[in-house]
Amino acid sequence: MEFNSLRLTGFKSFVDSTELSIEPGLTGVIGPNGCGKSNLLEALRWVMGATSAKSLRGSGMEDVIFSGTDARPSREHAEVKLVIANDDRTAPARFNENTIIEVVRRIVRGAGSTYKVNGEEVRAKDVQLLFADAGTGANSPALVRQGQISELINAKPENRRRVLEEAAGVSGLRARRHESELR
Ligand code: ATP
Ligand code: MG
Repeated sequence: MEFNSLRLTGFKSFVDSTELSIEPGLTGVIGPNGCGKSNLLEALRWVMGATSAKSLRGSGMEDVIFSGTDARPSREHAEVKLVIANDDRTAPARFNENTIIEVVRRIVRGAGSTYKVNGEEVRAKDVQLLFADAGTGANSPALVRQGQISELINAKPENRRRVLEEAAGVSGLRARRHESELR
């Protein structure tokens, strides 16, 4: 499973639709302070199902929508699309037929957020599990947010364990157990 491209529309500072292709190997994002580097990483986490407003550096869900500048009015919605290549069939088995997987998350002011996988509406949980089973996701230790290292050093053991569980790839199982216990 490889990330192919990321498209941001109205997400944070990316008011105009911006599409970036993600080439194999290492990708570097460079630019002056405040140009949107961290916002890119947040878009990636958001489309993978990140829910905690705190972990997205904002107080409310809708804070990800472009809030306007002196020159541009605010937007009514934000959308992020992540295109994944599944040529190697490493995505969860139910996607075996798909060489391309498109995940879209969209939020509309006052109406919450919705997810689509290959055009079909799914739950947040489905998207989170898709990435958790592939050993990645919004909380993957592969995504290190600014300031997260010092956060981790000062974390309670319980929270530090979660990071280790993500790294070990068992958090998808934990989420499923939790879901089955709720039923
Ligand atoms: P640094 O090098 O300092 O880490 P950065 O490149 O990571 O900077 P970001 O944190 O990604 O920068 O971007 C910050 C910019 O995004 C700020 O100018 C902020 O005003 C803008 N921004 C964040 N949320 C929104 C929003 N909802 N609407 C409009 N602009 C936003
Ligand atoms: Mg930054």
